[in-house]
Amino acid sequence: MKLSTPEFDAPSDANDRRAVTPVICYPPDALTPSDLAALAVRRKDAAKSGAVTAAPREAACIDVPAGCFFRISSVEGPQVGDLNLWSKADISERFYSGKTRALHGTHLSTGDRMWSSFPNLRPMATITADTLDWYGFDEFGGSVHDVIGTRCDPYTGRLLSGTDYHHCCHSNLTRAFADHTGLPMAEAEAHIHDVLNVFMCTGFVRDTGQYFMKASPVRPGDYLEFFAEIDLIVGLSACPGGDCSEEHSSDKTTCYPLLIEVFDPGQEAREAHRPPASSAYDQSHGRG
Ligand SMILES: [Zn+2]
Repeated sequence: MKLSTPEFDAPSDANDRRAVTPVICYPPDALTPSDLAALAVRRKDAAKSGAVTAAPREAACIDVPAGCFFRISSVEGPQVGDLNLWSKADISERFYSGKTRALHGTHLSTGDRMWSSFPNLRPMATITADTLDWYGFDEFGGSVHDVIGTRCDPYTGRLLSGTDYHHCCHSNLTRAFADHTGLPMAEAEAHIHDVLNVFMCTGFVRDTGQYFMKASPVRPGDYLEFFAEIDLIVGLSACPGGDCSEEHSSDKTTCYPLLIEVFDPGQEAREAHRPPASSAYDQSHGRG
């Protein structure tokens, strides 16, 4: 956090330096836009082919083949979810929230991609529908579906409160991923990564830049829908923070389940889909 009373005097041209106009780090026009119209046509013919529910303070995993859609829905009450994605073919390729943030901004919505880790750096999923897109940014600078938080975890809980809590999203995802893959718990834990905070309403306070959360505007019936660009394992935790209006990392808040449904447009449409290629960078890093 910045010191409220700086230790060093400002230079004489401090205001000029502050007044420099920012430039967007990664121009969004450099990315090929998602073909949402074509995806909408494909979605019309898709039939429900699977579903799983993440119980409150638990997580669930489900396979979603490339070319299918998956939808995360609020079903019983306001609830936020922590989403992880892995490539089914190689679980070391996983969602990269930091690069997704750099490319698309702090909060995602329709048309944005969920990008994978190095050396692949390719779209794993494309957001095709967001019933909370009306929210925009509120007067506090808050919005929904962030890629700025991490995931609640027992290590930070121990650091800050000195107690062990086993139903943070990190632990929920670890158990669900171990069950889904058959990996031992310790190995499964190493594959849990920073998330897309589905339905969570967050931002940074203007004066200190601290991360804030507030009660999610999500209501039963709201959903966020994705197109699977590659064969995926989707993992979702129903965060112990519930709607994140008060606190997380405890059993104090009311929590609700989250539903994941898969929609299949049929074998022909699936086979017609070409998964995005991994990065063509040669990985020489300037040597040899
Ligand atoms: Zn959480």
